[in-house]
Amino acid sequence: MENKTIQGKTIKEWEEQYPLMSKIISTEEVLWTNPKYGKFADAIEKISLSENDVKDAEERLNRFAPYIAKVFSETEKTNGIIESPIVPIPTMQTNMEKTYNQEITGQLLLKCDSHLAISGSIKARGGIYEVLKHAEDLAIANNMLTINDDYSIMDSERFKEFFSNYSIAVGSTGNLGLSIGIISAQLGFKVYVHMSADAKQWKKDLLRSKGVTVIEYESDYSKAVEEGRKQAEADPNMYFIDDENSTNLFLGYAVAASRLKKQLDEMNRVVDEDHPLFVYLPCGVGGGPGGVAFGLKLVFKDHVHCFFAEPTQSPCMVIGLMTGLHDQVSVQDFGIDNITDADGLAVGRASGFVGKTLENLMSGSYTVKDEELYRLLSMLADTENIQLEPSALAGMHGPIQFFRDEAGQKYIENNNLQNIMKNASHIAWGTGGSMVPKDEMEIYYNKGKEISASE
Ligand SMILES: *Cc1c(COP(=O)(O)O)cnc(C)c1O
Repeated sequence: MENKTIQGKTIKEWEEQYPLMSKIISTEEVLWTNPKYGKFADAIEKISLSENDVKDAEERLNRFAPYIAKVFSETEKTNGIIESPIVPIPTMQTNMEKTYNQEITGQLLLKCDSHLAISGSIKARGGIYEVLKHAEDLAIANNMLTINDDYSIMDSERFKEFFSNYSIAVGSTGNLGLSIGIISAQLGFKVYVHMSADAKQWKKDLLRSKGVTVIEYESDYSKAVEEGRKQAEADPNMYFIDDENSTNLFLGYAVAASRLKKQLDEMNRVVDEDHPLFVYLPCGVGGGPGGVAFGLKLVFKDHVHCFFAEPTQSPCMVIGLMTGLHDQVSVQDFGIDNITDADGLAVGRASGFVGKTLENLMSGSYTVKDEELYRLLSMLADTENIQLEPSALAGMHGPIQFFRDEAGQKYIENNNLQNIMKNASHIAWGTGGSMVPKDEMEIYYNKGKEISASE
């Protein structure tokens, strides 16, 4: 074990090179700030994706809006646009400050992707977007659709029969499978969802009830993705949604940013050189939080500071970014088990595409213990009456770690934020929860209460 090397270096050598590595390996909570974080104007030069790509995705979602409104009646009131509210959570903020004995300078808000229509998680952005794009590509290529049509025509036997000649495969820890399964089945595609061992039973049951084929694995997310990819390679009519590398997923998530800007404007909440915005994004493989962060940087540039949040047991993104090795290493290589109750974040190997794309745009990344996720889960339910799943609370812990850790204080100094922190907005990105069955949510809630009571 001692002589085992990872990408040519022993664990001891990695620890010597990166002082934070010992803490990460011993699954302590860490805050890593990115030494390669740079000015937006320089960083964007090196990235092949642009504002136009995000705009293209936004326009595609607008074209599909009449279809979405027609087949998912819960989106009627937003005219087929799948978007979530953002809310200030002052009582939660006060409670956190007391519980952790740590002031949060600025105002804390929650972005409720937990309550996105159709699939109740952030995956209702990227996951649904990529299936819609694939459907549009197929329909246009086969002369069944032009981009000037009213897309609600797709809700018909003719289209369903057409799409039934094609299938879609995806590997997932649960929520991506849920969103892709639901939208694909609605359009008429055959769907195969390869689920990792982390996936909750109710998600599999729900998908099967919609006619989705769910294939279960005893291993983690990477294996489920690999099997999905293999299955699709063998069938020319099967399309694989590649959570590890897909730019379409990424762009679907990125659309969140311009809509968030509109929401903040409506709340008269300013983001500019005197009013910094901090965003804390729960991270699994990286596509969801990475896509959102990319969109936010395009909109708010140097005035937004984005952090990834991972479980201490699944710190794949922080290891990938810190070492620059991205998807060439897994947490298991470092002896970390990737076993966490934050099922949406139970990923042992990060997306190389996301890590490399955001190398100079992410402010940092931190890790949280599962018990803090539960503690915050019941605190949020008690203070604001909002229910999130454990993964979604990873963002909530961000401001605590940012202000508590020396690295956070250094970040404030290095970026000259000392005098304007009082004007800061802190957004915890609440990535999932509204579809969790009531009895499951009660178990989560009670766990949080137990953890709080035992101190
Ligand atoms: C998938 C998921 C995430 C993270 O998204 P990735 O694209 O895997 O990084 C965060 N929270 C929840 C609830 C999720 O389902």
